[in-house]
Amino acid sequence: MVNGLSVDVEDWFQVGAFENTIRREDWDSLQLRVGDNVERILDLFDQAGVKATFFTLGWVAERNKPAMRRIVERGHELASHGYDHTRVFTFTPDEFAEDIAKARAILEDAGGAAITGYRAPSFSIDARNPWAHQVLAEHGYAYSSSVAPIVHDHYGWREAPRFAFNPVPDSDLVEIPVTTALFRGKRLAAGGGGFFRVLPYGFSRWAIRQVNSQDKRPAVFYFHPWEVDPDQPRVPGAPMRSRLRHYTNLARMAGKLSDLLGDFAWGRMDALAAREKPLSLDWAA
Ligand SMILES: [Zn+2]
Repeated sequence: MVNGLSVDVEDWFQVGAFENTIRREDWDSLQLRVGDNVERILDLFDQAGVKATFFTLGWVAERNKPAMRRIVERGHELASHGYDHTRVFTFTPDEFAEDIAKARAILEDAGGAAITGYRAPSFSIDARNPWAHQVLAEHGYAYSSSVAPIVHDHYGWREAPRFAFNPVPDSDLVEIPVTTALFRGKRLAAGGGGFFRVLPYGFSRWAIRQVNSQDKRPAVFYFHPWEVDPDQPRVPGAPMRSRLRHYTNLARMAGKLSDLLGDFAWGRMDALAAREKPLSLDWAA
């Protein structure tokens, strides 16, 4: 069972936790760290012998072209995370089309490879904006991994299927939701992010084993470059809850990731999307 491994490539100041503390117009005055962090991750992946998908912001690709090249040269998939982390449900369909076209042009230029995968910032495709999948299908994307089929304080589409589905009639677009595990009938977030970093590794190992052996499906896991960077600048004035979530266990992350990479088989998301047998749209009826 080969699981899907992904990295959401954004810098330390572009995360949802700080969106009310760090202004968009200040981004260009802040220290870029994502390029170096991507290099660390590439080394970690080489040591473990795994390939993965890097869902990257167009904004980041513009400023880190050598890192984009190396992602592709070292056998990984470069994919889109939109231009500047604007959540999809805040766009009109036309604005969304513009955003993904802009990001794709930048990413293809920087990486020198075709972009066929997309992940919405903060899993922002949900019951509010089903048109987003339509737009992705019209633009020729092969797959999206933009849905969190769970309730969370920042995101979630609780009715969505837990595994691959075809969200658009008469289209081959596959949506591959981020992993949840069932515990006493409830869906638990188990695909990475703060849950992986804050909770003991044993929880994630249990959850992924559960998905592989009980559901008999691949898991989809994600993390961010800033999570392997304990020395990143601290953001003063951010809410306590955001700081707790963002800074806990950063120093332990690389070790935890090594355990995770060693305990399971991992691969690129485009390969996983091609292997999956998606549910048809009937789930919504
Ligand atoms: Zn993101």
